[in-house]
Formats: sequence, C-alpha cells, structure tokens
Amino acid sequence: MAARSYDIITVGGGIAASSLAMAMAGRGAKVLVLERETQFKDRVRGEAVVPWGLAEANELGICRLLKEKCAHEVPHVETGSGLRDLRATTLQQLPLLSFPHQAMQETLLAAAEDAGVEVRRGVSVQQVKSGTEPGVLVNGRRLERISARLVIAADGRGSAIRKQAGFSVSGQSNVYFMAGVLLTNVHASTEIMHAVFNPDLGTWTGLIPQAGGQFRAYLTYPKMMGYRIQGESMFDLFLRESAKGYPPMGDFCVGAKSIGPLASFDASDAWVEEPYRDGVALVGDAAATTDPTFGQGLSFALRAARVLRDELTKNSDWDVAGRHYAEQLRESFHACHVVEGWMRSLFQDSSPEAAGLRTRLMPLIAEDPKRVPDHILSGPDLPLNAQVRARLFGEC
Ligand SMILES: Cc1cc2nc3c(=O)[nH]c(=O)nc-3n(C[C@H](O)[C@H](O)[C@H](O)COP(=O)(O)OP(=O)(O)OC[C@H]3O[C@@H](n4cnc5c(N)ncnc54)[C@H](O)[C@@H]3O)c2cc1C
Repeated sequence: MAARSYDIITVGGGIAASSLAMAMAGRGAKVLVLERETQFKDRVRGEAVVPWGLAEANELGICRLLKEKCAHEVPHVETGSGLRDLRATTLQQLPLLSFPHQAMQETLLAAAEDAGVEVRRGVSVQQVKSGTEPGVLVNGRRLERISARLVIAADGRGSAIRKQAGFSVSGQSNVYFMAGVLLTNVHASTEIMHAVFNPDLGTWTGLIPQAGGQFRAYLTYPKMMGYRIQGESMFDLFLRESAKGYPPMGDFCVGAKSIGPLASFDASDAWVEEPYRDGVALVGDAAATTDPTFGQGLSFALRAARVLRDELTKNSDWDVAGRHYAEQLRESFHACHVVEGWMRSLFQDSSPEAAGLRTRLMPLIAEDPKRVPDHILSGPDLPLNAQVRARLFGEC
C-alpha cells in the first residue's frame, strides 16, 4: 500500500457517503470520495425522507441546502384511514422531504467538494483491504492503491465491498417486489403523500409529490403474481394494478405520463449485525437494506452518517469509534426491522390467518389508533417492548 494520505476514503458517493464526507471535512478530516458514476441518473431509488430522517438531515446541516436546490416539503400523508398532519403528529414535528434521487446525489456531492472533500468520479473501487492499514484498489484511468485511517463502504444495495471485507450478511426473504416510476401530469395534491396497503391483494401503493409537479409512484406486490413490472411496455399494467390496490390512483393518473425508467426490486431485507471491523465501516444500504415499502433507507443512511460523525469526533481511537457506531446502528435497525415485520403481517399479508387477525384488531385500532407504533415515521428511538407489541396485537 502507498503511504497513508487520507483520514477517510468512502467507496461510493450516495447520500450516506457524501453527507458523512461533508460532515467530517467540516471537522478537519482529509476525505476522499470515490464514485463510479460520472453523472447520476434515475435508477428508481428512494425519494422521500420521513420525519425522523429529516431530523437527522437537520443535525447534519444538509436540510436547507436540499430545500434550496431540489427538495419539496410534504406536510400530509394519507394511509387510507384519513389525512395525517405530520408536523402536528410526529415526534419530530416535521414534514416529509422529497426530491429526485439523482438531483439529491449531485447536490450533496457538490456540497462535499465545496467543504473540502476530494471527489473522484468515474472510478470504480475494485478491492478493499481491512486491518491496521486499510485501503482500496481503484480502477480509474489506471490501477491505483490508496490507503487511509478508515475506509467507509457506502456502495449501496448488494454491496460488493462488504463481502470482500469479510462482513457476514444476514437476510430475510420478503415475498414482495416493489416497482417504481416517475410521473408527470398527475391530478393529485402536491401536499399529500399517499401510502396505502391493500391487504386483500397484498399490495402497497405509494404516490409522492416532488418539486416541479412531478410524482414518484411505487407499487409493492406479491412475488406470486409471477411477473416483474419493469420496462415501458408494462407501464399500463403498473397503473392498472396501482388503481386496483388503491382506486383513487385511477383518477390521479388519468393521462399521466412516465418520464423515467419503470423498474422493480426484490423487497427482501439484508443487513450486517456488526457494520464495523478492522478499519472498515459500512454505512447506508451497505450496512442495512430494508424493505423499501417502509421508506426507511434514506433515514438510516443519514442516521449512520450522523452517528459515525459523532463517534469519530468524540474518540481519538477510531477503532473504538467504529465499534460504538456499530452498536448504535444495530439497535436502530433492529427497532425498525421488528416494527416493519409487524406492519407487514398486519396490513399487507393476504393469508386467511392474517385476515382473521385483522377482523379482530381493526375495530380496536379504529377506536385507538395509537395502538399502532409510529416507528416508521417517528423513528427507532421510540420505545419498543413487549407492551408495545401486546397493544398492537390486541393482547392488552
Ligand atoms: C424502489 C425503491 C424505493 C425506495 N424508496 C425509499 C423511500 O421512499 N424512502 C427511503 O428512505 N428510502 C427508500 N429506498 C431506499 C433508498 O433508496 C436507499 O436506502 C438509499 O438510496 C441508500 O443510499 P446509499 O448512499 O447507501 O446507497 P446508494 O444511493 O445506492 O449509493 C451508492 C453509490 O455507490 C456507488 N458505487 C457502488 N459501487 C461502487 C464502487 N465499487 N466504486 C465506486 N462507487 C461505487 C454507486 O454508483 C452509488 O452512487 C428505496 C429503494 C428502492 C430500491
């Protein structure tokens, strides 16, 4: 390896890497971001940050920048049981923030560069080395070895770097695909996100307004339907199935046009229990990829960046910082993972057992909506214990 020349190298320049890089450069660290794309494009990713994630964005100091450049505040959510005012009812008293994913990435990476981060684009990290002198092997115009005090793997879903660095990945197979597409000419409010389960069909329909009159539409549907909704030729099917699951979509989307790719993804979860070891830390989707139906990924990426920033600032021994970070991220992930499982079985599962459960529980929930824990919008720091579960499942 070459002589150590950076404090931090990030593999990838997504939201997790760029917000951490910017924060650490602001604290005097010498940071290098390696991103393989020369220009970001629509890959059908997350475009809505829930209120607890927005609080993390505020902590990282990127919220105003996003609002100035590309983001739109969405104050209300419709889940099919009445409009909810997010500012009035979430722990953080914040709305949802939406943006085109690629515009968010360009904005944050440019801001990181302005903060003193060295950003190299069009370079692909081929290998990572952990240990006392961590580093990477980069394939740009030529092969190059670069070392640092800490390597951050922020290379997204299915991270190749985490496998190379020897992290073991846990998984939970969920029986759904999620499809998404960007729309224009939609006849719906720009102030409301629609996020509605249809348990009879096992679907979830999402419609998220963005700046400039665009809307991101998502549909989660059971794998047993037997097809992947992707490509232009399946656009009409996407709209039909969305409207079948949530009839107002039919009216919203009369004459709607797709202005980006239609792509679908496996909604299974994959995570690493200990996202730090031997000079390599995992952040964002590389640390935990959760079912996108619940829209937690961007918020987890921001939490990871904020927690790691705080630990690296507090501890002169970065090995200690990495272990503290891993512990906190594991707890946050565990809370949302457990609650997502409850929500899936209660609101999405179309089996007769789940239908029976709903017949018993829905009247109780209608009487007292606070039986449903609010971790998805208000975050993983809410209490999670046997009583929270018992109240949701009508056992007390
Ligand atoms: C369909 C769908 C809908 C979603 N909806 C939501 C939502 O509504 N709300 C929400 O919060 N989350 C949502 N998510 C999740 C969210 O998109 C992710 O959690 C988030 O983008 C993760 O950010 P990241 O920075 O970890 O990774 P990414 O955004 O994937 O960034 C990784 C970067 O690393 C680069 N890279 C990869 N390998 C290398 C390499 N070897 N060398 C150099 N660079 C490399 C890539 O080019 C990329 O730019 C959704 C995901 C999907 C798939």
